[in-house]
Amino acid sequence: MTLITAATARLVDIEVEKVRTDAMQSFLKQETIVVTIETADGLTGRGYSYTIGTGGRATLSMLNEHLLAVLVGEDSRLVEHLWRRLYDSTRATSVGVITALALAAVDTALWDIRAQRAAQPLWMIAGGNRRDVPLYDTEGGWLHVSVDELVEEARASASRGWKGVKIKVGKPSIAEDASRIAAVRDAVGPNIEIMVDANQSMTSAEAVRRAHAFEPFDLSWFEEPLPADDVTGHVRLAQSTSIPIAVGESMYSLGHFREYLERGAAGIVQVDVARIGGITPWLKVAHLAEAFNVQVSPHFLMELHVSLAAAIPNGRFVEHIPQLRAVTDSEIRIEDGHALAPMTPGLGIDWNLDALDDRTVA
Ligand code: MG
Repeated sequence: MTLITAATARLVDIEVEKVRTDAMQSFLKQETIVVTIETADGLTGRGYSYTIGTGGRATLSMLNEHLLAVLVGEDSRLVEHLWRRLYDSTRATSVGVITALALAAVDTALWDIRAQRAAQPLWMIAGGNRRDVPLYDTEGGWLHVSVDELVEEARASASRGWKGVKIKVGKPSIAEDASRIAAVRDAVGPNIEIMVDANQSMTSAEAVRRAHAFEPFDLSWFEEPLPADDVTGHVRLAQSTSIPIAVGESMYSLGHFREYLERGAAGIVQVDVARIGGITPWLKVAHLAEAFNVQVSPHFLMELHVSLAAAIPNGRFVEHIPQLRAVTDSEIRIEDGHALAPMTPGLGIDWNLDALDDRTVA
């Protein structure tokens, strides 16, 4: 009765809710890969992953041509076994971004089924630490935003009771980055957390220099200062500054996180459930971080990450970037600066199937 009877995938283009620019790129559209899995006992699980504008069709092709057929006839309860089986079947393209995104769409659908079958919300069945997780805002801090707007957005976040704001950095001059951070610190005072994010745009030497210039502003973290494959550069930077270094949104394997943590190069872990390959490996990264006394503040995907950050004891923040409103009838609840994990059984995302149909492109 728990056998998988059907597994299908589609690509859904969701328009960006707001212009989002950082030091390296612009968010063009959320290419959303949606996998639907049905079981013999009548359950339907929906999982998803995403790109911010490229690679969606390659991911869909990986699913349709290779992965989905493996699932039919398998026991939907064996989530760990199925993850490993799919991973092993893509050996020549793993570790890899496209494979990770494809695995994540399947794995999150299997967790949806697992939680529905247990009649529990995801955050409880995945660990069950605390329902409410502090929220910080990224949506007001994009790199193209003027200083006045930056300050206005930060003040608005603070007045809503939100706990932090993130500012993109990587302007041509240090002075410009520093003056933007200073203006926000001045506006919100000492009790709101401020984070900065360079989106892998800097050289090792430049990141050391900028971190030094940012130190007077009491930052909670300096995110993705360097390319993610430069572990040694992150080690040097972490040793040179008191600002915690945050990494993880561009990392695709448990082993990559282990290396960063072992070498003291990650002060905050920002594992992304889509890019790591689903909830199964996401939880392993989170528990690994716990073993190193490091907190987890997942990247983007707040609609799903709210439940995962609520599942673990070392969840630090949920990142506020709303992006599923066009295709869902639910929205995450925010109370007193905290995001509340949904209490409905399953992932807690109430998909609007007509809206998904309207935006399906492949
Ligand atoms: Mg980032």
